[in-house]
Amino acid sequence: MERNQKYQQQKSIILKHLQASEAEWQDWRWHLANRISSPLDLAHFLPLTEKEISLLRNASAHRRWAITPHYLAAIDWEQPDDPLKLQVLPWRDKTVAGCPVGLDKKETRYLLTVTNQCAIYCSYCTLTCQQGLIERHLALDLLQSTLNALAQQKKIREIVLVGGDALLLSERRLEWLLREIRKISHIRSVGIVTRTPAVLPQRITAGLCQVLNQSGPINIFTRINHPRELTLATQQALKDLVAAGAIIINQPVAMTIAQRTDLSVAN
Ligand code: SF4
Repeated sequence: MERNQKYQQQKSIILKHLQASEAEWQDWRWHLANRISSPLDLAHFLPLTEKEISLLRNASAHRRWAITPHYLAAIDWEQPDDPLKLQVLPWRDKTVAGCPVGLDKKETRYLLTVTNQCAIYCSYCTLTCQQGLIERHLALDLLQSTLNALAQQKKIREIVLVGGDALLLSERRLEWLLREIRKISHIRSVGIVTRTPAVLPQRITAGLCQVLNQSGPINIFTRINHPRELTLATQQALKDLVAAGAIIINQPVAMTIAQRTDLSVAN
């Protein structure tokens, strides 16, 4: 079956199961509120082995995992080793320390964590977004004090917003943040690392594009790891970002054979 046909077919099944409408499917907040994060809910759609269900149960106790309805529709439910499925099923029950935030070695680039929330939680991720079971954005006063400190560090040329995923901030908060960053005269470049266009393309709204456009140019570092993540909705989201003046730089994450093997142990 053709890729988009399969997506549409699986989308219909999800909508029916969640008793939701097409209008809700187009609403990014609906997707966030209806993410699948329990093994039994997932098993309603994907044929999961007993070992996979047990793995998911164990993982749920230690870390967050969640799949947007959009991303679930993009997975091929009939393929046990579907490459999109491999990216979202937690194959280890612990998070990995080693979060690359703060200043880089040359002290010219600062990676600023603004939230620990992501639309989905990836199996390979080593960032702090998966630590703790509660999703929260960085408090405004902490954000302001960090920006004040960065304004004193004249060597810094670039600020990159990292995850969590800054595109999940409200448009008002993101607009404020980008405006404050632009006030720091030695900052020449602003970027956002994001999986949102691939896993929640509905978030790329006209309002968000307007914020990016007026704060631009913004480098959007996407993590599109597989061609099948380029659904029609994702393609449109990327076009909208480009039309809003964003510079798209895709930096795919390669899953290692060891990681894949860890998951296949569950089968
Ligand atoms: S979206 Fe990015 S930060 Fe969030 S879980 Fe996936 S890899 Fe980690």
